[in-house]
Amino acid sequence: MRLAIISDIHANLEALDAVFEDIDRVGVDRIACLGDVVGYGANPVECLALVRARSQHCVVGNHDFAVFDKPLRKLFVASAQKSAQWTENQLSEADVAWLKGLPYKLSFDNMLFVHSTPRDPELWDYIFGHLEAQMYSNAFMERLCFVGHSHHAHVHSVTPRVRGYTPTDRFIINPGSVGQPRDGNPKASYGLLDTVAGTYENRRVEYDIEKAGAKILAAGLPPNLASRLREGR
Ligand code: ZN
Repeated sequence: MRLAIISDIHANLEALDAVFEDIDRVGVDRIACLGDVVGYGANPVECLALVRARSQHCVVGNHDFAVFDKPLRKLFVASAQKSAQWTENQLSEADVAWLKGLPYKLSFDNMLFVHSTPRDPELWDYIFGHLEAQMYSNAFMERLCFVGHSHHAHVHSVTPRVRGYTPTDRFIINPGSVGQPRDGNPKASYGLLDTVAGTYENRRVEYDIEKAGAKILAAGLPPNLASRLREGR
């Protein structure tokens, strides 16, 4: 099976369109989404509809959750609170109902999919580095655990060993962010897994950053949400 893993779209339609074009070019059997479909960007309705139509699996992210959960929204920084409020005003009742129905975790074919961490995903903790990944090695049974949330593309082995590599090694993998990369590379990011070939690839896709940023400004959303797209921070 060839599986595309997308995450942290953040209502960036230009980035999502470019990623789906790339996915169609390389060809996949399934698409899994790790959440944060909305928040920050100017096209929550369109992105939600596209993810809903094209992905077979989707878990909830904290920005999806904040659309219908005011206490969580209060914990956000000011620009994220503003965008959550704006997003809520754009979405239909049916859109919000779909977000409410998303699970925290999904598991199939020896793979776990979660937005934040495999243990207590509702706490929205982050896995940034190798040490944090090790802390969660016993928190899941599957061979692969896909996480989003940090917007940093990375692959961490969580199999303790002194040296060498075996095909049964376990990994925590973050495919990076489609719509708001923060790892210094502004190109849209997603993951491509081939379970038959035994390969995983982080793909980076160019998209119209200026157009996505201009829409954020035109919508009256905080200007830093546009400028950070250019910087990939
Ligand atoms: Zn996010």
